[in-house]
Amino acid sequence: MSSTYQAGPAEIVYDNATKRYPSQPAPALNRLSLTVSAGEICALVGPSGGGKTTALTLINRMTELSGGDIRIGGRGIRETDPIALRRGIGYVIQHTGLFPHMSVAANIKLVPRILKWSTRAARKRALELLELVGLSPAEQFADRYPTQLSGGQQQRVGIARALAVDPPVMLMDEPFGALDPITRGNVQQEFLRLHARIGKTTLFVTHDLDEAILMGDRIAILHEGGTLAQYDTPETILRNPANEFVARFLGSERSLKRLALTTLAQLSPSPPSGPVPDWPAAPPATSLREALAIILAEGCDGLLVGERTNPTGLLSLDALRQASTTEAARSR
Ligand code: ADP
Repeated sequence: MSSTYQAGPAEIVYDNATKRYPSQPAPALNRLSLTVSAGEICALVGPSGGGKTTALTLINRMTELSGGDIRIGGRGIRETDPIALRRGIGYVIQHTGLFPHMSVAANIKLVPRILKWSTRAARKRALELLELVGLSPAEQFADRYPTQLSGGQQQRVGIARALAVDPPVMLMDEPFGALDPITRGNVQQEFLRLHARIGKTTLFVTHDLDEAILMGDRIAILHEGGTLAQYDTPETILRNPANEFVARFLGSERSLKRLALTTLAQLSPSPPSGPVPDWPAAPPATSLREALAIILAEGCDGLLVGERTNPTGLLSLDALRQASTTEAARSR
């Protein structure tokens, strides 16, 4: 049915990738070299004009390379016909790009139908994908029009459509940028769960550093002029910014952002030994940053970890403060 496309994730290699736009004296992307391992999520961040979108759109040849190369699964993108290349790459953009006059199912089936899948196979795939992105039961969503869905639901359809022909690579340009903060948080979590199941190699551009830290296995920070300032895991970047530019880009909240990477479970606070204080309870997966927010919002002196009736640990505000100071000291 879709024999042209390999379903497994593919490694992406930027090899001195360079882009010069004809009207511009300086390159938009300057000898970018980095490897996104198969199945990883790479977040592209950096100041506006730093070449993030250029780096993304070079991959599907919406922008053509001026120098260097990009390889997907070992194959140079210039060796592949642009149309065939794009069909092997899921592409998600901020305002979904759904066709308003077509039903949700018809939007998702678009590329499978172009590829001459049978009506029945394409419908089956659309329903499967709707379930996969959390629009369940799928039959209830399939025949609605995009405007009959909320923003978050539309974005889920956008993701389902990008996955229609099971591409090895996903590109996402500010995918959650238009959503309100709560919906955005939900869709981010949903995407991470989905990614854990399907493991597509994913590159996404974001202005939101917290989003990059939450979602990226690695983060690429691009400097003005399209040079790579640092490429590493969120943890390493926050602990060890490569230079002044990166440190400034991460900003003064760097230690707070590091708290977002540690969960209560990882801190393994000691179990209660005496009477259990009247503190709010939070699940072990709660980040230290969220824990701090809960403590401040509730005006209490600490948190119970796990069930309120049978907590597995206690975290006092003092202990949290100590942990954050250690984090801050380590990240200096
Ligand atoms: P970012 O996504 O980080 O904001 P872009 O990749 O959009 O950065 O742009 C990088 C640089 O290339 C900017 O200086 C921008 O003005 C320039 N640029 C982007 N697209 C074009 C284009 N089509 N023609 C000329 N210059 C462009």
